[in-house]
Amino acid sequence: MKLLLHICCAPCSIACIQSLRAEGIEPTGFWYNPNIHPLTEYRARRDALQSYAAQIGMALEMHDAYGLRPFVRAVAEDMDARCVTCYAARMRETARYARAHGFTHFTSTLFVSPYQDHALLRAAAEQAAAEFGVAFLYRDFRPGFRDGQAQARALALYMQKYCGCVFSEEERYTKRSGAKPAAKPTEKPPAPFTEAEAALARQAAMPLFQAAGLRFDAEQAKADAAPPTAAAQALAAAMERERTGAVGGGDARGGDVRGVAPHPTRGQ
Ligand code: SF4
Repeated sequence: MKLLLHICCAPCSIACIQSLRAEGIEPTGFWYNPNIHPLTEYRARRDALQSYAAQIGMALEMHDAYGLRPFVRAVAEDMDARCVTCYAARMRETARYARAHGFTHFTSTLFVSPYQDHALLRAAAEQAAAEFGVAFLYRDFRPGFRDGQAQARALALYMQKYCGCVFSEEERYTKRSGAKPAAKPTEKPPAPFTEAEAALARQAAMPLFQAAGLRFDAEQAKADAAPPTAAAQALAAAMERERTGAVGGGDARGGDVRGVAPHPTRGQ
């Protein structure tokens, strides 16, 4: 078995890698998480994984893709159901990459987390496996979660405080998720920016965009949604050829970090 292990972060990878190695499976790690924001957080998690992979001698493939804008656009229609899109994006790209690079199986460290929707994640992985014709190796790594996190703390690895996207960051620090508020009890939470205020701001911004010769956001979104022209398709195909030829092959020591790639839910 040649296994590609999608890795969301170094702490979560510990129990999964140990469990796989105990089974006699040597995984190759795969970094692809355009859902992690902001950039400083993305870099902190990515760099921690590269350092940990080097420490334990595990091969690591990097598909570096910081995706704030495309991610937010992709989940904007239904932000409360955003995890569906997020899982599909990451499982889909992992399956595609596995297939394209000669791996027989793939799985993900997301299956270690008791905070993820395990069943939904599994469905997304199975769908991606069927789409790309590569086997999905299901493992419930959750029993190792606490021990893995304890090992991560002992190794002084970077430990994130929220799942990944800006929405989960907000939930982590508000009462909505049941998490303890970060603010001191006497500190007032910020007042919400209402839809009505946003609409007024958009209205006020329109002439400013026009004066500056810029397209307003709504126009940009419409342009993005329009079917691509033949020239745009040819350009996208050329970029894809270049990207698939360039991505990968880097291991933890090489740390082959490339430029931003297109979001998998859009245009691939
Ligand atoms: S909460 Fe986590 S899994 Fe859900 S969309 Fe945000 S980063 Fe993805």
